[in-house]
Amino acid sequence: MLNPIYLFDTYQREKREFVPLEPGVVKVYTCGSTVYDYPHIGNLRAYIFSDTLRRVFEFNGYNVRQVINITDVGHLVSDADEGEDKMEVGARRENRSAWDIATFYTDVFKRNLAQINVKEPSVWSRATDHIAEQVALIKRLEAAGYTYLTSDGVYFDTSKVKNYGYLARLDISGIEPGARVELSEEKRSPTDFALWKFSPKGHRRQMEWQSPWGIGFPGWHIECSAMAMKYLGDTIDIHTGGVDHIPVHHTNEIAQSEAATGKQFARYWMHVAFLTVDGKKMAKSEGTFVTLQDIVKRGYDPLVFRYLALTSRYRSGLNFTWRNLRGAQKALFSLREKIAEWNSDNVVPSDELVEEFKKRVNNDINTPRAIAFMWDVADDKSLPKGIKKATIIEFDKVLGFGLEVRVAIEIPAEIRTLVEQRETLRREKKWEESDLIRQEILSKGYELEDTSSGPRIVKRGS
Ligand SMILES: [Zn+2]
Repeated sequence: MLNPIYLFDTYQREKREFVPLEPGVVKVYTCGSTVYDYPHIGNLRAYIFSDTLRRVFEFNGYNVRQVINITDVGHLVSDADEGEDKMEVGARRENRSAWDIATFYTDVFKRNLAQINVKEPSVWSRATDHIAEQVALIKRLEAAGYTYLTSDGVYFDTSKVKNYGYLARLDISGIEPGARVELSEEKRSPTDFALWKFSPKGHRRQMEWQSPWGIGFPGWHIECSAMAMKYLGDTIDIHTGGVDHIPVHHTNEIAQSEAATGKQFARYWMHVAFLTVDGKKMAKSEGTFVTLQDIVKRGYDPLVFRYLALTSRYRSGLNFTWRNLRGAQKALFSLREKIAEWNSDNVVPSDELVEEFKKRVNNDINTPRAIAFMWDVADDKSLPKGIKKATIIEFDKVLGFGLEVRVAIEIPAEIRTLVEQRETLRREKKWEESDLIRQEILSKGYELEDTSSGPRIVKRGS
């Protein structure tokens, strides 16, 4: 029998037991990145969550089918239907084509996810590879009477759906025309949104396609509905994303999907809270826009960020500071060291402890409690070290700290040699020379601490 898993559903605003549509299978759609720039660590936190969610299901014996999309067209600067396409903004910024920008930042996105141990989804789906599916879905909505045409494109008429905005608890009557975005004169209601936008007159867009309505490009929201339905069916189990997706993007995904199929689109909506940097919203102008590249540049292992992200609840805001990251590094390194010292050859994990751990992660992916439990196990003096190691490596199937493959601390050969030379000098009681080598190690970005079990090497943070 499978253990129960409880999830908080943003749509109903309640935590309830998860029951899949199809026994033993979970279908998850994860809103991906708009590939026009480096993702920031707030974006990445959302994928650490969706990955952990997936791992929890796998840990419980489910078969997970997960789609992550790549938004490479149609996401406009305003999140609604105004402003320039982000892809063209990226193209102008770097003086490359929108297609090159998409390829480059798709690679960055995928590489970043691999660096933080996010497993590959069953399907990566790129918006520009699914124009036909999007056009077909718009045609379906048109045939059912949910659309209208303006000089600017094909729009979805939100007044035609019941409960529009329920996910966000939008008070439609309170939205003044023009309050959300500059209301185009032909838009019937401020919440109506573009399904297809025409290329501007007299301007050739880098990314544009033929359609039954005219040359143009799909709106941002339609891609997720079309691709989710293609790969996962009309009704999916779980849809994940950031809380910033609630008021517009996910609200519109629900409206158009359910209008087209007459069925519930996603049975659970799960949203990850905002990440702030030094207590502030991330902004390039404030120096609070942090990417994984910045973290790596300062000498941190990217998995230290994964550790930090999982020490907070996904539904709570996470305030990132470099000091917090250093704290996470200390914790993760000390865990790795313990594990490296213990021998678990031929030792099986403790079922009882694994069940205890499972209860914590099955309770709405409560990773802070799961990590605390892992430390209780690590620090339990009454448990044999081999069992502790085997059990913690089992927990790591969910946490994804790469403990199994990284039992040895990764220190470059050059540093290892210096450490060995210093050890020899110390044995010969040549203290001054050994101190000079310590200085040299420090200048190369590593710190040495002499412990009873030998020298401890830590890569320095900033
Ligand atoms: Zn989406």
